[in-house]
Amino acid sequence: MQIYNSMTRKKEVFKPIHEGKVGIYACGPTVYNFFHIGNARPFIVFDVLRRYFEYKGYEVTFVQNFTDIDDKMIRRANEEGTTVADIAERYIKEYFVDAKALGVRPATVHPRATEHMAQIIAMIQKLMDNGLAYESRGDVYYRVKAFPSYGCLCGQNLEDLESGARVSVDELKEDPLDFALWKAQKPGEPAWESPWGMGRPGWHIECSAMSTTYLGDTFDIHCGGKDLLFPHHENEIAQTSGATGKPYVNYWMHNGFLNIDNEKMSKSKGNFFTVRDIAKEYDLEAVRMFTLSAHYRSPLNFSREMIAQAQSSLERLYIARDQLNFLLNAASDRQPNEAEQAFMAACVASKEKFEAAMDDDLNTADAISAIFELVREIHRLDATNVSREAVTAGKEAFLGMADVLGLLMKKEDGLDPEVQALVDERAQARKNKDWKRSDELRDQIKAMGYILEDTAAGQKVRKGV
Ligand code: AMP
Ligand code: ZN
Repeated sequence: MQIYNSMTRKKEVFKPIHEGKVGIYACGPTVYNFFHIGNARPFIVFDVLRRYFEYKGYEVTFVQNFTDIDDKMIRRANEEGTTVADIAERYIKEYFVDAKALGVRPATVHPRATEHMAQIIAMIQKLMDNGLAYESRGDVYYRVKAFPSYGCLCGQNLEDLESGARVSVDELKEDPLDFALWKAQKPGEPAWESPWGMGRPGWHIECSAMSTTYLGDTFDIHCGGKDLLFPHHENEIAQTSGATGKPYVNYWMHNGFLNIDNEKMSKSKGNFFTVRDIAKEYDLEAVRMFTLSAHYRSPLNFSREMIAQAQSSLERLYIARDQLNFLLNAASDRQPNEAEQAFMAACVASKEKFEAAMDDDLNTADAISAIFELVREIHRLDATNVSREAVTAGKEAFLGMADVLGLLMKKEDGLDPEVQALVDERAQARKNKDWKRSDELRDQIKAMGYILEDTAAGQKVRKGV
């Protein structure tokens, strides 16, 4: 598999540190509010990354943190007259509600910053011991110039960064490039004990401390939105390698932005839709389909038409699944004929195309096209005379691919017994050429929200949308 590594700015063949295993760390949400559909993009694409590694037989450890202490959390708690812990608890719960509806599986571990103070403090201490950090009136700062490879991820050297930096008049820092590892407590803020007095961690250090806690000092893949490249991930490298003396991450993956009118969707600009908002209008699985319709590194423009389009593509996948079940019901145990052998070859070809697309830096757009090629073939099978072996091969290939993308998450629950009884009665009426009764039953079935089609192989019934 090839992965575009943001560090080297090229596609590289993925080689795991431990044979058959992959460790992935994804920067998760700050839990002060519902998340928006821009935030949903990394959650969805890196969930697919994880699923694809599993499909390929890897054992995956997928870690995604919750930032449960920072300025935004404190502001929100003050606005609502409650505690930061209360806000975190509430929005972590809500995260799981939305994630589930988007088909994003829970990570192997969801570490929270406030539950890893010991590891955070130990790492800061190590940086001080290594001469890379200094205390200043209860704050602790990272001494950027003491880490010569600073800028390796964003592709800038210290001089570039220095000339680009605004000269801040901060007498607490030795240098404007230095960043906070620990912040001394301000009145009314939650705080933890540390060797430098009461305070709380800076944002970047939590990801260094938690990723290495669960994945080791050096691990395979670190991902997040591309806005995190600098300074967040750059600082993570400086902190972690500065503390451990080892390389931090082998592959860096960054998703492109979800835009509205070609501008990044973000809470601060106010141009966002929460996943909750969208759920009022659309099936959230359509948001997943929409997100995966583009390559994860490309920008993706949000519009209602695009979501509606994704919804109808998704609908075509559900229809194909229903068709496969319909075919299976009608199938016989005979050997596949020539046309069906060609169909089975098409199943293999579409799976190969799917895997080639996914192996090429997770090209979900092409992977979806491969699935639709198979959908066209499925509809060519003759329901009046079909071999079970061929349909089964089709179903396996089709569902296997959909599952990697986390699509078709609605269960195949068959027809309600009540509807099934009407369908059976109608089959009998048709046999008896009682067309009047047959039409009455059809109207009744439709009125219950089902779509009914009479085909040469019998009645085809599915839930309408
Ligand atoms: P935040 O809660 O803002 O730290 O964001 C959580 C994740 O969403 C991070 O990986 C961000 O890079 C990512 N993200 C935020 N806004 C967007 C956007 N408009 N498009 C894609 N990813 C985003
Ligand atoms: Zn992070």
